[in-house]
This record gives sequence, C-alpha cells and structure tokens, in this order.
Amino acid sequence: MKNLKVFKFGGSSVRDAANIKNVASILQSFTGRPILIVVSAMGKTTNALEEVVAAQAARNGKALEILNSIKEQHYQIMSELFDPGDEVFAAVNDHFVTVEWVLEEEPHENYDYMYDQIICVGELVSSTIMAAYLNKAGLPTSWLDARDVILTDDIYREGWVQWDETVEKAKAKALPLLEKGGFVLTQGFIGSTTENATTTLGREGSDYTAAIFSFCLDAEDMTIWKDVPGVLTADPRLFDNVVKLDRLSYREAIEMTYYGAKVIHPKTIKPLQNKNIPLFVKSFIDPKGEGTLISSDVEDHYPPMVALERNQALVYISTRDFSFVAEHHMSVLFTHIANLRLQVNMMQNTAISFVVCVNDIDDKVDRFAQHIQGDFKVLIDRNLELITVRHAQPAVLENLRKGKILLMEERTKDTVQMVVKNVQVVDWKEVG
Ligand code: ASP
Ligand code: MG
Repeated sequence: MKNLKVFKFGGSSVRDAANIKNVASILQSFTGRPILIVVSAMGKTTNALEEVVAAQAARNGKALEILNSIKEQHYQIMSELFDPGDEVFAAVNDHFVTVEWVLEEEPHENYDYMYDQIICVGELVSSTIMAAYLNKAGLPTSWLDARDVILTDDIYREGWVQWDETVEKAKAKALPLLEKGGFVLTQGFIGSTTENATTTLGREGSDYTAAIFSFCLDAEDMTIWKDVPGVLTADPRLFDNVVKLDRLSYREAIEMTYYGAKVIHPKTIKPLQNKNIPLFVKSFIDPKGEGTLISSDVEDHYPPMVALERNQALVYISTRDFSFVAEHHMSVLFTHIANLRLQVNMMQNTAISFVVCVNDIDDKVDRFAQHIQGDFKVLIDRNLELITVRHAQPAVLENLRKGKILLMEERTKDTVQMVVKNVQVVDWKEVG
C-alpha cells in the first residue's frame, strides 16, 4: 500500500496512563496518513502472565490470584483514561474471562499450548485499551485481531509464519480497514494455527509482527519506538562509552541482534531486507530525535559494537573409543540440534571432539545430551556468556576480557566471539 507506515510500540511505551497518552500525542502528528500500529503487552505483563501459566501447570492454586492482580493493574490504568461507564471495561473484561475459562480447566498436557492460550491476553487487552484511547482522543482507529492475519505452524511459543497465507490474509483483512481511513491497531507477538488455536512468535516477538505486516502490505517504512534514542553500540546498562549509531546496514543489524543485542528482535530484519523497507528505531521520549535508520545502504565504517548473550552452555562432545568425530557423527548431532531448534552460536572441532555453544533455554540442552549420551561422552558447562564484537579494536577486546575466563574464541573478518565465564570473586576475609 502506498505511503503506509508501520509503527511498533513496545511494552514500556504503553506501561501506564501517562505513556499511553504520550503514544497518542506522537500519533497526533501523523493524522491523515495510513498507519498500522502494533502494540505489545503493557510493561511487564507478559512476565506476570508467565507466572500464571507456571502456577496453573503446578496446580498450586495461585493462578487466578495472579491473574486478578494483572487485571487490577489494567483496570487502574483504564480508570485514569476513561469514564467509569466506558465500554472499554467490558471489552477488556471479555478478554480476561477467556483466560479464566482456561484456568477453570485441568492444566493442559501440552505446556506450550496452554502458555500461548493464556499469554496472548496481554496483547489483546493492551491493544483494546490503546485503540479505545486513540478513538477517544479524536484519532479514529480500527482494532484488528492479529490472529486473523498471522498464520503459523503449530509449534507453540515459537510459531513459524506461513507466509503465503499470511500475505493473503493481511491484504484481505488489514487493507480494507486502512482504506477506510484512520489508523489500524493490532497486537504484536500473537498468531494462530489453521485450527484457530492461538500461537506466539517467541518472546519479544512484537517487532517481528510489525515486520511481517510491513512485508505483507509493502509498507513505505517501519518504525520501532523505544525508550532509547536509537540503536546503540552496546547496552548502556552493561557497558560504558556507548554511542548511538545514525545509520546501520541490515547486515550489521541482523548480526548483532542474532547474538543477543536486545534492541530489536532478530527475526525482524529479514522480511524488511527482502523488500528493502527502511527501519527506523526512534525514541518515544524524544520523538523528534533522529534515531537510527537501518537500510540497505552500506556504511563501510563502524565503531566497535558489542552484544552480550547470557545463559550460554558449552557442550563438549567426544567419541568414547577415540574414533574420529567424522561426517556421519556430525550429521547425527545436527539432526538432534535441528529437531530441538537449539540455537548454535559457535562451534569448534578436533579429531575426536566437538564443542558447541548454544542458548541454554528450558530443558533443551539436557534433552540434547540425553539423545546423544549413548554414543558420545558429553560434558556441559553452564551459566556462560557469549560476547560478540563487530569491528573490534584491541583495547576494546582487552577490556571485555577483564575478570573473565576465556573458554572459546573465534575470529572472522569483522567479528570476534568469545565464550566466557565470570570469575568468582571470593571474599577471603569471610572465607577465613
Ligand atoms: N509481550 C511480549 C513479550 O514481552 C512480546 C513483546 O513485547 O514483544 O515478550
Ligand atoms: Mg519488548
């Protein structure tokens, strides 16, 4: 669609009444243009809903209580934005009731399925509240259920998008609403299977949702509104001397986000790159600020950029009888890795051993070890960090290694990667 802009507002930009009003005031300056808005759940709602899921699975009787406190927080925010009789209260209540029904039943045997049926309420209510507020503020907005558009496979909590169907549905459902005029507002993170069961795209997946809509509707550009001025060279909460990048290529952005730079969800770049749709990362606190532009334009000079990914495991695999780790072993190992959707970040092999660094999520690493233990000797080192540095300079690397034990390192043209363990600082006075 010509002139279409896609905006994504994350959880912190809609975390309370003041921030919701701020989003409305940003949108005020875009009236009269076709805009599709994607919103996340408010603040830390998704984390709180994860507690509801865990409580339900554990049958500890706390699930409804936690859900009620989440509901309370939303009602509190709504009471600051709407008159008591506003129909938004009933609409939000309907979404919560759907979850209450799930909680009345026995916990579903498929944890991931149950997770998605509960967790989706965060985005459903935030989008309902945001759309109602925009309408109230004189910005006509249609609410769109993202599950009517984004079709995924049935791998719950990590649904893979079925692109052909999703493109078709986006054109059928979103275009008519946009053509009507006004904004269209939908949820990030959620989709649905062909059987109409709710799925999610993976934590922090709302950025990806915005990119999916941008791709399907041929947006002119996409903007992610964040609480930082743009893409920074490292996470300012973890590193000093961080600077904002004005421009970034898709390639740089995808390399850094894949290895843990939290600024954008790693899956966001591909759909945009495939259609050459520019991505802006801007601040909702300083909306006039220039932000960062991510596009195909090649920049040949970058400062050092650092990404840190925690919860890494090194899996040391060797043959039990000193036979070589040969091609057929590799192929068996990788079949298990692929089946578990285990993200491999680094690997190294010698004659009789193979080491992989993977994201240590849920019980995937243990399941991997169980599968291969019969044929290989397996050792696992956990709680490690992966540090990825693009365009490194020696002083930067030296600084990063301070206080850490280096377990594995790899250098390629523009990238240095290190798997490290934090040195345990023991207070000898207490020990003595
Ligand atoms: N609300 C979801 C999460 O917290 C999706 C998102 O915020 O992007 O993971
Ligand atoms: Mg987020």
